[in-house]
Amino acid sequence: MKFATRAIHAGQEPDPSTGATITPIFQTSTYTQAGLGQNKGYEYSRTGNPTRTALEACLASLENAHYGLAFSSGMAATSAILSLLRPGDHVLSCDDLYGGSYRIFEKVMRPTGVDISYVDARDVDAYAAAIRPETKLVWIETPTNPLLTLVDIAAVAQIAHAHNALVVVDNTFASPFLQQPLDLGADIIVHSTTKYINGHSDVVGGAVLTNDRGAYEAIKFYQNAAGGVPSPFDAWLTLRGVKTLAVRMRQHCENARRVASFLAGHPNVERVYYPGLESHPDHALARRQMRDFGGMVSFAFKGKREDVDTFVRGLKVFALAESLGGIESLCCHPASMTHGSIPAEEREKRGVTDTLLRLSVGIEDADDLIADLEQALARVPVAAH
Ligand SMILES: *Cc1c(COP(=O)(O)O)cnc(C)c1O
Repeated sequence: MKFATRAIHAGQEPDPSTGATITPIFQTSTYTQAGLGQNKGYEYSRTGNPTRTALEACLASLENAHYGLAFSSGMAATSAILSLLRPGDHVLSCDDLYGGSYRIFEKVMRPTGVDISYVDARDVDAYAAAIRPETKLVWIETPTNPLLTLVDIAAVAQIAHAHNALVVVDNTFASPFLQQPLDLGADIIVHSTTKYINGHSDVVGGAVLTNDRGAYEAIKFYQNAAGGVPSPFDAWLTLRGVKTLAVRMRQHCENARRVASFLAGHPNVERVYYPGLESHPDHALARRQMRDFGGMVSFAFKGKREDVDTFVRGLKVFALAESLGGIESLCCHPASMTHGSIPAEEREKRGVTDTLLRLSVGIEDADDLIADLEQALARVPVAAH
């Protein structure tokens, strides 16, 4: 079956005991057993819960994976994958990485004796040069945050596999609707389901999807051992959210395309970062690797930081907020919000300047989104250039 059908039906048979069409919220911690050793596949809800099982099967199906595991956050999912590492192991990653992933690499993993190095996300040769015999994981994210750079998943997988390393792709920004990394050679996918998969900005959650049986068993063991599992209600909300992923993503992409081309023609805009624009350095790779170009658009202002503040205060439909991937449009200032913990010099070097803004383009009417950006931009003096 095709993607949109699987999003609604995979793992979601009518409930066998009642016929309920929609998977119930199994709000229980424990399960009554008929006799010693006689359970119906569930004993305790940290280990397994039927609402969570449905979500795990649905997400696995959407990523063309045999195995799926759901977690209480994207970072809980990330830490479960990192449980595969032992002292002396090496992780090769890219410089344009989600801040929370960088933080757990540096502050939690490095002190345990795991080494991590970072290469330019786009430079395939740099991965080949930096990989070592002790490299266990190659950890990439594409498109990256906030500059929407692309990493060539198939090329990186080839290098990693030649050195017996597993490739982990954080597929949060693209969602499985736009990109299916396992089909391109990746071994493990991590999601913050908080973003596009749930899509309604009302749940924090995460997931791991893989076809690697050994990795699945180790990560599942850790899921139960450490216990970072979603509640039955959060699993249910996420399952409800993911049913509309295909229609939402189509609209996110359509709206983002219109917003990006509006911004590209505005006199106060210095540069637009959107993989769907032909001027984007990774446009050809985006065409090859993704089904469409996504709902995230970043842009740099012509002018001063104060102008950015005037602009964000003037927005009426876009909310100034962190996070992304929900139905409502958000605007984020990475330098002071998501990337505030990176030293200014390092940030500027990477292109995350004080005048950069990142938009999570929602699924409101695109005319209203453009009108909102236009009126807020009109409050800012046209930059003399
Ligand atoms: C939000 C996010 C995470 C972390 O997920 P949480 O659900 O916030 O724990 C990881 N990676 C990316 C790319 C994200 O955007």
